[in-house]
Amino acid sequence: MPEQLQILSTLKEYFGYDRFRPLQQEIIDSIFDGQDNMVIMPTGGGKSMCFQLPAILLPGITLVISPLIALMKDQVDGLRANGIKAAFVNSSQQENEQQDIYQKLIDKEIKLLYIAPESLSFIDTILSQIEISLIAIDEAHCISSWGHDFRPAYTQLGYLKNRFPEIPIIALTATADKATRQDICQQLNIPHAKQHVASFDRTNLSLEVRPGNKRVEQIIDFLRDKPNDCGIIYCLSRKTTEMLADKLQNSGYKAAAYHAGIDHLKRAAVQEGFINDTIQIVCATIAFGMGIDKSNVRWVIHYNLPKNIEGYYQEIGRSGRDGLPADTLLFHSYADVVQLQKFANMSGNQEVQIAKLERMKQYADSLSCRRKILLSYFGELITEDCGNCDVCKNPPSFIDGTIIAQKALSTVARVKEEEAIGTVIDILRGAQNAAILDKGYQKLKTYGIAADIPWRDWQQYIIQLINQGYLEIAFHLNNKLRLTALSKKVLFDGQKIYLANLKEFEKKKEVVTKQTNKGAAPDLFQKLRELRLELSREAGIPAYQIFSDATLKE
Ligand code: ADP
Ligand code: MG
Repeated sequence: MPEQLQILSTLKEYFGYDRFRPLQQEIIDSIFDGQDNMVIMPTGGGKSMCFQLPAILLPGITLVISPLIALMKDQVDGLRANGIKAAFVNSSQQENEQQDIYQKLIDKEIKLLYIAPESLSFIDTILSQIEISLIAIDEAHCISSWGHDFRPAYTQLGYLKNRFPEIPIIALTATADKATRQDICQQLNIPHAKQHVASFDRTNLSLEVRPGNKRVEQIIDFLRDKPNDCGIIYCLSRKTTEMLADKLQNSGYKAAAYHAGIDHLKRAAVQEGFINDTIQIVCATIAFGMGIDKSNVRWVIHYNLPKNIEGYYQEIGRSGRDGLPADTLLFHSYADVVQLQKFANMSGNQEVQIAKLERMKQYADSLSCRRKILLSYFGELITEDCGNCDVCKNPPSFIDGTIIAQKALSTVARVKEEEAIGTVIDILRGAQNAAILDKGYQKLKTYGIAADIPWRDWQQYIIQLINQGYLEIAFHLNNKLRLTALSKKVLFDGQKIYLANLKEFEKKKEVVTKQTNKGAAPDLFQKLRELRLELSREAGIPAYQIFSDATLKE
């Protein structure tokens, strides 16, 4: 292993930095120690350094698997500018260009080789002729279908460990819930990889969720006190990005649309303009942002509900990378939820997608600190409320929910963490359906101990407990409820729990409904129809018995 001093002087000499960011040093040490490593660090946290610096000092070549050609080129250009011998291989190159790189590899004139997973098979024979010291798998969540950017070619990467068992692998990603994390290590055949999880808490980002009515007016209002700040508005559809860019231009903003359907020259121009501050606002689909290193993005708006929390967190994470305050705003509409449900149903693994969407919806509906929810989603538990989200700034009133929490958690414990939310509530309420009776749950101590609390309220309370980190949902195991490290404090240490007053919640909902009613009547009907379906599912009676379509039209 190189001396500490040598590592630090390399950091200074090649990158110009005096010290490491959190976790970088221990990750680098662990690589020199020959271990496999799994790195979870937010966007902008400094993941690349974790393999770029070792690559300089290790005797052989570091192979970097990276998903996007554009990202690859940027990184290689950056490294070369710092005097590091780096190259990439991908399908956009001419054959003679590639031959040239192969020769350099054999002549040991390259320290870092970037390659897309799809191209790996082309360099197979070269790989046996060169000395490889480290394999880095960037954006490793692409391997997992639990993740949000699944790429089939990534799933073949598992063979690397079999082929090069002695060579350390480092997998890096910005967004991975626990299930994804485990899946990544399993698929890469590095079950014993050291896990390094950096804090995801970006305290400088304010969080706000608003009902999605009259969004354009709300956005223009939002921009009033930020006339010159740069920001991104994420939309679900290409059409919306163009509509919005138009309207903002008409209001005098330097706005542009960006989506995968725009030709690549124009897209590059938008990206360039945004980086150079000649374009102030980009209205984009999620195609925009990966690999954009712009530190002064002051706000991010989600015009539509994102399809999961990973994506949402990554997108808002593109603001405030300079550490200064930045504002994020999410519009929540049930029409979006319905749309996203349709997409999820068409996707390969719909159960996971639906469960993740459900979690996103719970975040948007939350009555407790939103940051707690985000962080607990990534397995990070904070005890204090953040004070920088709309719920903290304008909190609902709370009730002492300790007894409620104890009842719920002890039921989850009694069913051995084997049941999802619905069954747990059925037990608490003493339901007599077959699912309960067949399993003998009527014999549990907590069976029927809280029949006085309506089903819907129970659902809300349990969501609040999840959001506060006292329970979690195992998406990959049929959404079973699980206890967390915090659960013990409630069950055994008598920790007090506060839950939002649901009466108040109903009041808030009414306000939302009334507002929606004013501008967008169809949205209201959509919402009522949803509510009816929800009620019918819960009560187990046909929807038309709850209220008729005629009622909806009144
Ligand atoms: P990530 O891949 O985690 O999103 P990057 O590797 O692109 O992040 O790094 C983000 C920025 O942080 C880059 O501009 C990089 O040069 C910078 N950076 C990395 N390590 C350090 C460090 N130790 N000190 C200061 N800046 C750093
Ligand atoms: Mg990166």
